[in-house]
Amino acid sequence: MTHANNNVGARLGRGMVSLMRWFDTDYGNEDLSAIRAKPDKVEFVRVLPFVLLHLGCLGVFLAGWSWFAVGTAVFMYLIRMFAITGFYHRYFSHKTFHTSRAAQFLFAVLGATAVQRGPLWWSYQHRHHHKHSDEEEDVHSPNVRGFWWSHIGWITSGRNFPTDYSQVRDLVKYPELVFLNRFDSVVPFLFALTLFIAGHYVGEYFPSLGVTSWQLLVWGFFISTTVLFHATSSINSLAHLLGKRRYRTEDNSRNSFALALITLGEGWHNNHHRYMSSARQGFYWWEIDISYYLLKVLSWTGLIWNLKPVPLAAYENQRSISTRRNISATHPPGS
Ligand SMILES: [Zn+2]
Ligand SMILES: [Zn+2]
Repeated sequence: MTHANNNVGARLGRGMVSLMRWFDTDYGNEDLSAIRAKPDKVEFVRVLPFVLLHLGCLGVFLAGWSWFAVGTAVFMYLIRMFAITGFYHRYFSHKTFHTSRAAQFLFAVLGATAVQRGPLWWSYQHRHHHKHSDEEEDVHSPNVRGFWWSHIGWITSGRNFPTDYSQVRDLVKYPELVFLNRFDSVVPFLFALTLFIAGHYVGEYFPSLGVTSWQLLVWGFFISTTVLFHATSSINSLAHLLGKRRYRTEDNSRNSFALALITLGEGWHNNHHRYMSSARQGFYWWEIDISYYLLKVLSWTGLIWNLKPVPLAAYENQRSISTRRNISATHPPGS
């Protein structure tokens, strides 16, 4: 009986810690290497907000729709997809261009509205993926663990929740970024609240649009964010399964026109795995890379600078075998 009580007590304790980590991802001082060494296991309490995000889409049956609400969902999808690819991925994870500290913070806030956790966690997991892509160590390889694990399973596992700050030291030195990473539900909550309030005012001042608070919350937040998650995730899953391989990288990364369209350029994943420090992922004019075009426009405003170009070698050595460890390769000077 005492043993059973102890078990229940331990479970409750773990559940409470998981619950606290909804708000403070670094809550409790568990040893990181011990967590990472554990086998994969779904952390149910921790995953609940992610489940609720999906269930929130069903609110459409109560809230209905309007062109304005659907347009908001599309707009929020596009702007946040750009924030994920242009900032979380090409800036924070790979540092493919430079910017000021203030703009960096703004980019991190924009990225955080995508509800894909904090910029340091995202970058840490992504750098880990490049180091070990499609090896046993890779936490989201469809070739090692299957499609569903790479697409969605890996983010539900307790061992993948913490951020290994030692792998993102270049970002840890900014306390404002660490704050956003640690309290990673603050920005999504404020984003959802803003949509809800905006829905109220739009409905009041422009009644002919037929918009309500709930409608803008369901479309602009729940539906848009859920679709955004699955589109982003398709790069972890499908971009290592479907498409062409221009470069014989050590992983199974692929280039896909369709994935590049829905992810604003991330579908040129084989290009990216071969030359990950290039700000541009579509290497030819027909390889549509909208995030790169937008970054280029931002560079004209002076907000960002030093966009790292596609290395000349990318056009010359298409048949060469690369090793991902020397992948940052060389860049032609001054171009
Ligand atoms: Zn990859
Ligand atoms: Zn990358």
